[in-house]
Amino acid sequence: MKFLKDGVTHKFMADHMAKRACEWLRFMGYDVEYPDVHYDNEILKICIENNLILLTRDIEFYKRYSLSIFLDSTDYKDQVSEIISLFPPDKKLFFTRCPVCNSILVDVSTDTLDPLKYTMVRQKFKTVKYCKKCNKYYWEGSHYKKILNEINKILKFKSI
Ligand SMILES: [Zn+2]
Repeated sequence: MKFLKDGVTHKFMADHMAKRACEWLRFMGYDVEYPDVHYDNEILKICIENNLILLTRDIEFYKRYSLSIFLDSTDYKDQVSEIISLFPPDKKLFFTRCPVCNSILVDVSTDTLDPLKYTMVRQKFKTVKYCKKCNKYYWEGSHYKKILNEINKILKFKSI
């Protein structure tokens, strides 16, 4: 395992066995790609070309690439814990990235939202986060609170 120099923003690639961890790391603002290709060779090519740190549960795959982390546990929470102990999270980056596609979210005024579809959201919030690629809005509702609660549990466990 050899990593890029400090000061560099680390970018990751989660393989198909780390999909759930990928989503949770994105909630925490980590830049994590998820492959739209299927074969290991294709995934490796993308990792090499983009200097991505590969997160995998496949020991053979792990051995083939020096910038990779072997995820020991099958539990995504343990997997996330392992990553954040190596690469501490930046709380300023929480909820800045789309968990579905990894794009950076932008702030949009709720005035621009459909008043019929988003009545409650418009009443409660002045701005929401928006993913241009997925055409999806995110706001600090009950789902957000649940996720933040889980993240805090993981962080407390690691005492970061
Ligand atoms: Zn998206």
